[in-house]
Amino acid sequence: MSRFLQADIDLRALIHNFQFIKSIVKEANQKNKIVAIVKADAYGHGAVEISRTLQKEKVDYLGVAFYEEAVLLRDAGINCPILLLFDREIEGIFKYNLTPVIFDIKHAEKLSRYAKKKNVVFSVHVKVETGMGRLGLYKNICEQVIKIANMPNLKLEGVMSHLSVAEDRDWSLQQINKLKELKNCLKTLRINPIFHIANSAGLFLDKALFDAVRPGLILYGYATNRSLQGITPCMTVKTKILDIRRLPKNTPISYGKTFITKRDSLIGVIPIGYADGYFRRLSNRGFMIVKGKKAPVVGTVCMDLTMIDLTEIQEAKIGDEVIILGSSGEEKITAWDIADWSDTIAYEVLTSLGSKAKRKYIY
Ligand SMILES: *Cc1c(COP(=O)(O)O)cnc(C)c1O
Repeated sequence: MSRFLQADIDLRALIHNFQFIKSIVKEANQKNKIVAIVKADAYGHGAVEISRTLQKEKVDYLGVAFYEEAVLLRDAGINCPILLLFDREIEGIFKYNLTPVIFDIKHAEKLSRYAKKKNVVFSVHVKVETGMGRLGLYKNICEQVIKIANMPNLKLEGVMSHLSVAEDRDWSLQQINKLKELKNCLKTLRINPIFHIANSAGLFLDKALFDAVRPGLILYGYATNRSLQGITPCMTVKTKILDIRRLPKNTPISYGKTFITKRDSLIGVIPIGYADGYFRRLSNRGFMIVKGKKAPVVGTVCMDLTMIDLTEIQEAKIGDEVIILGSSGEEKITAWDIADWSDTIAYEVLTSLGSKAKRKYIY
């Protein structure tokens, strides 16, 4: 017998969300390009299947963090442009036809030299600092970008930056204006790459759209603005009840005796724990859905097991389906719910829960 822990990934929802993004950006500018962010194994949804689906939908670029992620996609037969966000790879750019993001001029020099040696031209994007404080050229920015644009065998295809608080309109406008200044500076020299700064939340700031956008979270059906209508979560995580025990009042449950039954109780034992990305923070705080009803997590979340209170769900049986993330009947648990119960964000919930479950794709 093997443990059942499954993540259903609804690719129809992905396509729906992709079309939703398209409708926003194309309305503003028909030529606007979409860089679909599939880093961290597509936020726990499986980068290969997600990328395949988006490629069929004619996405303009895929965006990954590191070289290994890009290789995985190319080896799976994905041939659309791939933007490499956070890597200093050189040879692999040539070997796998990748589009590097340059955040350091020395990296640009190395790329230029290598491309010249191979007698090819590398298309590159350059990242500049506007307020994220993470990566990007940050001194004499315009001068440095011009230098890169003029390096032999490099073609400056794009210039990008990253919003640090996309929900904060004023702060984002300051970042956007810095990028615009750079755009104007380059324009005087007839250097006209595409510009991009918007992540998912940036889609709703029309000034942030520029020539391309880089949505991640919203592709998977979540927004930082939790009340956003029109997108559908792609991931459902479920398992089955491993055991059910009828315990008397005053029985301690799990490590540390942090929960003591206050009544005669029906306690379900669920085969998912913090090793599966079900955060220990959810101890005595989380909920799961059984038979269309919410059951609270009781006691401490263990490495592989978690207990829930089924006293109000007397009809529950061993082997019944348990929804960890998703909906059943009238009840629903979203990644933001789990995030709130565990003091984190939906991004961390998706990347954590999605990585350990066995994935099943719904076409
Ligand atoms: C992760 C990432 C994104 C996507 O952000 P979301 O908030 O998930 O839309 C866009 N750009 C860069 C550089 C990123 O690292």
